[in-house]
Amino acid sequence: CGIVGILGGKSVATDLVDALRRLEYRGYDSAGIATVENGHLDRRRAEGKLRNLETRLIAEPLSGRTGIGHTRWATHGRPIERNAHPHMSAKVSVVHNGIIENFRELKERLTAKGHVFETDTDTEAVVHLITDGMQNGLDSISAVREALDQLRGAFALGIIFAGEDDLMIAARQGSPLAIGHGRGEMYLGSDAIALAPFTDAITYLEEGDWAVMRRAGAEVFDRDGAPVTRPLVKSVASS
Ligand code: GLU
Repeated sequence: CGIVGILGGKSVATDLVDALRRLEYRGYDSAGIATVENGHLDRRRAEGKLRNLETRLIAEPLSGRTGIGHTRWATHGRPIERNAHPHMSAKVSVVHNGIIENFRELKERLTAKGHVFETDTDTEAVVHLITDGMQNGLDSISAVREALDQLRGAFALGIIFAGEDDLMIAARQGSPLAIGHGRGEMYLGSDAIALAPFTDAITYLEEGDWAVMRRAGAEVFDRDGAPVTRPLVKSVASS
């Protein structure tokens, strides 16, 4: 139900949880974060409140300057840790708000190709779809683009990749997403209010938009893949 992302200058775990806390009022049943740590993806998740996730992070800290976070309001799959976001393969990690309507047919097709699903969520189909594209030789951005073309439903996505410390992809279709611009840092939030402690310089993605984010800035594309310019606005969300 809440998405955050940070391409940071230092370890981002604490800031991700702080940003998620600003979305708590929307309600959620579990939470998690994932980062790129020495080139590898890793994550911590917990059922229930954010303080459970914090307790987990104290016991098992997560480093990494590139990360995504999620508070989940389960639609497909019980609210247990195994179904909590971020979902991931060795190559890609995904947070998702909304519903992937055609996840059953995607899951069937991908399972037949040898992908092993570990959760009961609709979201996991996105992970395997992107992973499949990458296994077929696509680079991360092309794999996401091909995957987006196949997804039906309402969603917002935040995506990071193994071996890519300076890349995050965001996509919006029926569920809001805001990109925050910092000094040598970039942020992602399902609501600009989550980003208020970090920046008030916001670009809202429009319907069908997806964005390639790096620390130096974000490139936004429409659903046909054409580059588009979306206004940079000063958020009124106060910290
Ligand atoms: N449909 C996804 C799930 O059940 C995302 C739910 C949400 O928006 O938090 O895991």
